[in-house]
Amino acid sequence: MKAILLPRFGDPDVLEFADVPCPEPGPGQVRIRVHAVVVARTKDVALRSGRHPFARAVTLPHVPGTEHAGTVDATGAGVDPGLVGRPVAVSAVLPCGTCRACGRGRDEACPDLRLLGVHRPGGYAQFCVAPAANVVPVPDGVPFPHAAALAANGPVARAQLDAGAVGAGTTVLVLGASGALGSTVAALARFRGARVIATARLGARPDCLADVPAQARLDIDRPDLAEAVLDLTGGWGADCVVDNLGLPRLWPRYQPALAATGRVVVSGALEETPVPVGFRPLYLRNHAIIGVRTGNRADIAGLWADVRAGFRLVPALVSTMPLAQAAAAHRTVEAGRHRGQIVLVP
Ligand SMILES: [Zn+2]
Repeated sequence: MKAILLPRFGDPDVLEFADVPCPEPGPGQVRIRVHAVVVARTKDVALRSGRHPFARAVTLPHVPGTEHAGTVDATGAGVDPGLVGRPVAVSAVLPCGTCRACGRGRDEACPDLRLLGVHRPGGYAQFCVAPAANVVPVPDGVPFPHAAALAANGPVARAQLDAGAVGAGTTVLVLGASGALGSTVAALARFRGARVIATARLGARPDCLADVPAQARLDIDRPDLAEAVLDLTGGWGADCVVDNLGLPRLWPRYQPALAATGRVVVSGALEETPVPVGFRPLYLRNHAIIGVRTGNRADIAGLWADVRAGFRLVPALVSTMPLAQAAAAHRTVEAGRHRGQIVLVP
């Protein structure tokens, strides 16, 4: 079969479009004919460069590729053969299943968490093998690229909004809302009936939030960001801030606009420098800062229930490229020029 192979770490040109043996499903596994696989900023792009800690978990040569979607092509021992031909989305999260965190249903906190496409060969290929427990049926009318993008960003977006208590009647400020995760958070918050204030670097890319579902769009670099958020919320502020950037310069700019009992939800930090958190507003205004590592099994199930209930990504925020052009896709992600999620199509 054809696959994208990573023979060594380096710039995007190290990626090779190569022939590799087709994987066979083992006990409890299914083989997927891949129709769409996401390009993930850390798990694929940073991993490829060798600069991310994930790179240490990789055995070279490696087939990258985490969340994907396709049809079940073959089943291993102990798996219902009736699954063959079904359209499915595949989660890349591989919890150990036996530790205390997994036993509590908090598999996102599993100390031995592994990932398809990092610890095992992934979905940048015509075929990929995954545990049967990791596949979810794709509802009718959801195209494969959207199913892959939903599988990648939907469960963590859901976990973030649950952690932030975001629902109807609340306001969420999404930092970096033009990206794959940020745009999904905005869309899911709108689906829940929340009011969304989306932010991005509009000075560099004035149109990058045009398709992001939101009631208001603000330049993240404006010095009066907090005043603008307070104006938009009648002086109350944002009930939740989703900050996946972790940039020290941004915290003092949005923290004054965090409502009493507000929550800051964090699933990323672009800089090593710590964010300067003042404790006084934290206790005087009952603020909370909550880390979300990824979505767990309950978040995955909840996300697909949302999809069955009508939740969809904005078509303009899911773009496809041929699998053979994986290197070009990586260059696009590294340059930060794209909006939403890029999906490779074998
Ligand atoms: Zn575990």
